[in-house]
Amino acid sequence: MPAKRIIQLGDPVLREISTPVVDIVAVQPVLTDLRDTLHEFRRTHGFGRGISAVQIGVPVRVVYIEFEGTSYSLLNPEWEFLSDQKFRLWDDCFSFPGLLVWLERSETVRLRYLDETGTPGSLEASGALSELLQHELDHLDAILAIDRALPGNSLCTREEWQRRYSG
Ligand SMILES: [Zn+2]
Repeated sequence: MPAKRIIQLGDPVLREISTPVVDIVAVQPVLTDLRDTLHEFRRTHGFGRGISAVQIGVPVRVVYIEFEGTSYSLLNPEWEFLSDQKFRLWDDCFSFPGLLVWLERSETVRLRYLDETGTPGSLEASGALSELLQHELDHLDAILAIDRALPGNSLCTREEWQRRYSG
């Protein structure tokens, strides 16, 4: 299936609370679209590790991640733990790829979810995977990285970010 258009900042669908998955079979095409769309984004932008279904216009609680060679299909993910210990990072988003946001995330998280077959699972992560999970689960609750921008000079265009912080 071809990659879908990624919903951009300003489209009200990004502010819809995603609804739980009830039919595992019906959600399979969504997972395929998320995978294809992630691959296409990475091909055209050179980065990208995770996407939520709402970002292709389907507000159901599904997240798809490819991280360090492992793919994760997370249906109805729910937090079990978010550490009080935080770290700060420049975050970005497929829905506003030209903008970086300086924000805070929990260092360590644990969540439970259903996989693509409907089997319950649990996932614990710290560091880069942890912040990625927090970014994607936020989408399911209509929260965007810009909503979490720390006070001060916390928004940066990608052009300026590359000039200042990368390489
Ligand atoms: Zn995002």
